[in-house]
Amino acid sequence: MLRANKGAAVQKPDSHNPDVTLITQTSPMATPTHGGRAKCLQRLVRLNLPVPRTVSLSFDMVHRIASGDMPDMDALVSAFPDGALLCVRPSSEDPDWGGPGAILNIGMNDDRYAEMSKTHGPEAAGELYLRFVQSFAIHVARLDPDMFEDLEDCSAEGLAIALRTYEDEAEEPFPQSPAEQLTQVLRSMARAWEGTSARLLRQAKGAPLDAGLGLVVQEMALGLGQGECGSGVLQLVNSTSGQPQVTGRYLSQSQGREALLQNTESLYLVRDPRGPSLEEAEPEIFAKLKAHAELMRKRLRAEMQIEFTLVGGEVHILDGVRVQRSARAAVRIAVRLATDNIISRQEAVMRIEPRAISELLHRQVAPDAPRDVIGVGIAASPGAATGRIVFSAAEAQASHARNEPCILVRRETSPEDIRGMHAAAGVLTERGGMTSHAAVIGRGLGTPCVVGAARIKLDQQRNTITSQSGKKFRAGDIITLDGTLGQILAGAPDTVEASLDDAFQTLMAWADDERDISIRANADTPADAATARNFAAQGIGLCRTEHMFFEADRITPMREMIFADTPEDRQAALAVLLPMQRADFSELFRIMEGLPVVIRLFDPPLHEFLPTDRAGVRDLAEALNLPVSDVTRRVEAMGEYNPMLGLRGVRLGITLPEIYDMQARAIFEATLDTSAEGDPVVPEIMLPLVSAKREVELVRGRIDAVAAAVRAERGKDFTYRLGVMVETPRACLRAGDIVPHSHFLSFGTNDLTQMTYGLSRDDAGRFMSDYVQQGVFSEDPFHVLDIEGVGELLAIGAERARMVQRDVTLSICGEHGGNPASIAFCRAVGMDYVSCSPFRVPVARLAAAQLAI
Ligand code: PEP
Ligand code: MG
Repeated sequence: MLRANKGAAVQKPDSHNPDVTLITQTSPMATPTHGGRAKCLQRLVRLNLPVPRTVSLSFDMVHRIASGDMPDMDALVSAFPDGALLCVRPSSEDPDWGGPGAILNIGMNDDRYAEMSKTHGPEAAGELYLRFVQSFAIHVARLDPDMFEDLEDCSAEGLAIALRTYEDEAEEPFPQSPAEQLTQVLRSMARAWEGTSARLLRQAKGAPLDAGLGLVVQEMALGLGQGECGSGVLQLVNSTSGQPQVTGRYLSQSQGREALLQNTESLYLVRDPRGPSLEEAEPEIFAKLKAHAELMRKRLRAEMQIEFTLVGGEVHILDGVRVQRSARAAVRIAVRLATDNIISRQEAVMRIEPRAISELLHRQVAPDAPRDVIGVGIAASPGAATGRIVFSAAEAQASHARNEPCILVRRETSPEDIRGMHAAAGVLTERGGMTSHAAVIGRGLGTPCVVGAARIKLDQQRNTITSQSGKKFRAGDIITLDGTLGQILAGAPDTVEASLDDAFQTLMAWADDERDISIRANADTPADAATARNFAAQGIGLCRTEHMFFEADRITPMREMIFADTPEDRQAALAVLLPMQRADFSELFRIMEGLPVVIRLFDPPLHEFLPTDRAGVRDLAEALNLPVSDVTRRVEAMGEYNPMLGLRGVRLGITLPEIYDMQARAIFEATLDTSAEGDPVVPEIMLPLVSAKREVELVRGRIDAVAAAVRAERGKDFTYRLGVMVETPRACLRAGDIVPHSHFLSFGTNDLTQMTYGLSRDDAGRFMSDYVQQGVFSEDPFHVLDIEGVGELLAIGAERARMVQRDVTLSICGEHGGNPASIAFCRAVGMDYVSCSPFRVPVARLAAAQLAI
């Protein structure tokens, strides 16, 4: 009697009203406006699965119920057999948006209790009645939970106490009419959905303002009584790994999701945790459940968890929900569905959230690990890192040498910290935003990094950090950074390892088949380049050469070069750097094996290379054989009021051309050296921070001269491509002027964002969260490309460049290159490739594929 049979003899609650629909095999699929649960149940009924009789109420109907306009309740109740107990469950568009909890056993009253005491025994009847009174009191009448939660006695006396308590608290008797009970349940669930806190909660999960709630009213299949009775859930895969494995929980004499609350290792519990599993005790039932789950997987084209009840050994399927899954499981599940020909490869690619991919590339804090959060900041580089606190780059290196993982904590990082950052397991800074030094380097290295954690207090004198709640941490204390969420945690919570398994590789290969925009990596070091290759980047879109000068053996000649008084002295210092640079470039070309490599000439303000503390100044004075006071004066003299807008980028190429000459020579010599070993290398040389055509003309003239000189010296020919980094608003506006001198233009959206907003990328982190919270910016524009403003400049630049030179290669190499929404924009304005941090390459590959499908 429980089953929604073939629909012939069923009585429809209101056959003219699509807002209240009895779900049958023949009822129309009018369910998008009835929510996901109703839709799923309708599909299960159509698959002829044993689903109890179900009526669904549309979003519209539920909205009307909230404002007091009830459907015809007698008709609704009469859609179910006389005396049936009912349950009501939420059916929102997306199950992740939540909704009010289910209410079971509606219809239980004094009369039903008396009848069921005879048919099911007084204990089972009493339990059902007591549970209903409890949940009605707490969730519908909204009485004080403390008065009801602990009631356990389901004897006649116990029930009498529960009913009296209800009457005392509610100041009215417990409703006996099933129609009245149902009315109140529906109204309370409808109103709960429209309440402010529920709305805010679901909006935080991405639900639109007007998200609707449907409700399903279902006849209860009681998991209590004679024969094998109980309830449980079952699924065909492991939620963590995604590997095929039948898992679930079952509890005899239970209903709802009670089985899930059992704290037991045994998955198929029958009455007693030490007893046989459901599979052993009831093999036929188990086989039936498995077959139902397999049918659902095939026909609903998804891994589903079935919620079932057994009544006297008979199976009832109450519901099906998408299996909860880790990012790793999601990939394996999608790939298996496609290899089993249940979904297409394209669909498998579409099913994976690109952001979730980055979870696979890094170790993560285990989803169920307890978190002692001591501070929050900007999630600048994903992954989990645990280690002892150190407060300087030198300590980080010492710790690394002892094989002891450490977390480098700094106010902000500077180029001097680079070796410490290499040595640290994670980096935490008090200041900074998404494109600050620590963030960019952290992402490049794949090192978990939290920046702009302004509310933890860093005391550099005493070497302590203090959490918001006042807890102090000292050097040597163990903390964990969650760079995925931007949290700082005390201690060492459990973590799960990165996973680049076969399923991941398969999915990425399918994504690459669809993609119509290339993906390169920003890579500065051989290690970065190797990571980029490992993630199948199609080349290097940005090699920031200044990062090559922070090694211990290079910083001194670099500083000598900066301090040189004459071009000759400068040449002499550069001559020391030349072979080092040549070796760097040769190694990059070798690793990239003929794939394109964009080398950006020196960009930062020179003073970034000067020492910032007394010890550094003393070291430099020693190296230069100068008095400390001299060095101090000259360091101060090189200071600029606004270095990011000062003597940097191509401006150095114009005013101190020997640096670019040396770099060009190193690139060309490396080109000839590596071309001799295999396919010819065609280097791509890029000029940073250009704002005027003449800058390009001047620098190009010198680079051509260096090329001619190297050709003549070596007696060998080569070609190279020259490009311009478009990262000032003027370069975007004048792209048509600049492009005739360039083979390619690459938009540097970090500086372009900084200059478009007039917002320092290194300081924005201090107030960015206030700006985003108050809706001034919808997102951090250093993280997600500001389409309206910066995007317009990009579009103008791309259009003006293409008008003059159709075949110019266009790309983006700012941090936005790895962001899915930004990639969509770049593709729309016709860019040829995006370039992003190596660890974001897989995310970009997947996002780009989804855009093309
Ligand atoms: C940029 O400005 O977008 C860029 C890629 O260069 P950098 O971050 O090195 O300034
Ligand atoms: Mg830049």
